[in-house]
Amino acid sequence: MAISPVIPVYNRTNLSFERGEGAYLYTPEGERYLDFLSGIAVNSLGHCHPHLVQTLKDQSEKLWHVSNIFSIEPLTRLSKRLVENSFADSVFFCNSGAEAVECGLKAIRKYFDENDKPEKHRVITFDGAFHGRTFGAIAATGTPKVLEGFEPRLPGFDKVAINIEAVKAAITHETAAILIEPVQGEGGIKPIPTEFLQELRKICDEQDLLLFFDEVQCGNGRAAKLFAYQHFDVEPDILATAKGLGGGFPIGACLMKEKVAETLKTGSHGTTFGGNPLATAVGNAVLDILLEEGFMQKVSDIAGNLRDKLESLQNKFPTIVDEVRGLGLLMGIKLRPEFENTKMVEKLRENKLLVNAAGDNVVRIIPPLIIEESHVEEALEIIEKTFGEML
Ligand SMILES: *Cc1c(COP(=O)(O)O)cnc(C)c1O
Repeated sequence: MAISPVIPVYNRTNLSFERGEGAYLYTPEGERYLDFLSGIAVNSLGHCHPHLVQTLKDQSEKLWHVSNIFSIEPLTRLSKRLVENSFADSVFFCNSGAEAVECGLKAIRKYFDENDKPEKHRVITFDGAFHGRTFGAIAATGTPKVLEGFEPRLPGFDKVAINIEAVKAAITHETAAILIEPVQGEGGIKPIPTEFLQELRKICDEQDLLLFFDEVQCGNGRAAKLFAYQHFDVEPDILATAKGLGGGFPIGACLMKEKVAETLKTGSHGTTFGGNPLATAVGNAVLDILLEEGFMQKVSDIAGNLRDKLESLQNKFPTIVDEVRGLGLLMGIKLRPEFENTKMVEKLRENKLLVNAAGDNVVRIIPPLIIEESHVEEALEIIEKTFGEML
């Protein structure tokens, strides 16, 4: 048998880690790597944050799982806190980003069905978007690659360019919603212009559509606000999040305005594990830190510092760097076409800096939110050294 016992859907390296602490990962041989990938925006507070470790230990000695037919205290508390700190009135918990997106997509259908407009069922999505790997999510995703071999694509999605005229032209009497990542992650760390998001809100209000933000990657403090949309003075009707919310423990959440949430009646949606006591206890511990007075300001300051340094690197290596872009600690270096991002990521890894490749030839830089100036300096030294070796 030639196949590995693990289904080979990932491009895995042989590198493995035994433990992590803050912004560092250690191999079994004790070699140290600076982690500016954070499990792809998951380990938002670094590895083994003491408050998260303690919370998980305490909860694991009390209660692991009960069915959602019972009240779950950490779940109730986490939903209240998300509601208090966002546009939302109500939250559904699940276990991953794709599930949070699916919940939002189902809520859109249910909302219009309950409002006697079942013909409104189509969702407008965008080029370069990524929404996950379930059937619904791949149909919504903007890159053809995720659909390869899995067609026919589920109906009900209209993909357009990030252009207001294109959005307007795509709207018909069947259109129900617009789904967008306020900062495209997998597509290449592209912040969507504020005016564009504001214009989408206006269109949704005028044409009776729901606005659905996918903040699976850019939410939970990643963009130096609890949610990225809070930068733009635009509120969605639905927001999906996951990745950083559990700091490494699997959890997803779909946040909604009351008018949408109230249409999801008893029995209309559900999941066995969603809102599990371990996951929601850790989610609360993550929020304890994200909501601490001054924490977001600190993230914003260090993000500014990282951005300044990356931009000065662009001046120093204009033949390598095409553009530095992003929001908060969701940053990308777009390389010139002569340099391949996947190759650069490998070279950076050889020099003990962990980052990864996103779309559009971008090297994605997503450090834990707890980094200090010394980490930024260390990362920049490695990047500078690596760029030097590539010339
Ligand atoms: C990662 C991601 C998803 C999918 O999340 P999973 O937990 O992998 O299912 C969806 N949307 C965005 C924007 C993402 O970055």
